[in-house]
Order: sequence, then structure tokens, then C-alpha cells
Amino acid sequence: MSNIYCSVQNCHYWKKGNVCAANEIMVTSDKIGDSALDSYDAPDHMDFKSTPANSCMDTCCKTFVEKGSKNFNEDGVMKQ
Ligand code: SF4
Repeated sequence: MSNIYCSVQNCHYWKKGNVCAANEIMVTSDKIGDSALDSYDAPDHMDFKSTPANSCMDTCCKTFVEKGSKNFNEDGVMKQ
């Protein structure tokens, strides 16, 4: 995957140097991020409805999982 840099250090996939270590991520609108199940993520990218955003403030990383969570493998995304 292309390099993804992220500063969200309490994410399960975050690595030192602000690197995302997920093998894939899904970025979507805040609206979908708020309403979709946690299990609905990057492996389902073809099923996501395409969505507009007015600015970066309207987008979110759907793949975020809080560090220490037991649900880190619920979405099928792997840590590299
Ligand atoms: S999964 Fe998303 S929130 Fe987590 S480190 Fe990667 S880009 Fe950041």
C-alpha cells in the first residue's frame, strides 16, 4: 500500500513516526462513519456508497480501532 501517514496515536494500527500499519484503510464521510457498523470497512470498499465532502473536516478513517480494543479484527483489516 502507498505510505499512509497518520497522527492518531491511540489507533491499533498506528506506528512510531506517524505511520499507519494497516494493510488497507477505508476513508469515508463522517455521516457513514457515524452510522455504519464497525465490521463494515476496507474489505467492503466496493459496497460503500460514493460520498461527497466539502472539506477534510467531513471525512474520517473508518478503519480506526482504539489501541487495546478486543474488536481489532472485527473488520478483516490486518496490521502489517
Ligand atoms: S487505521 Fe486510520 S486512524 Fe488508524 S493509524 Fe491508520 S489511518 Fe490512522
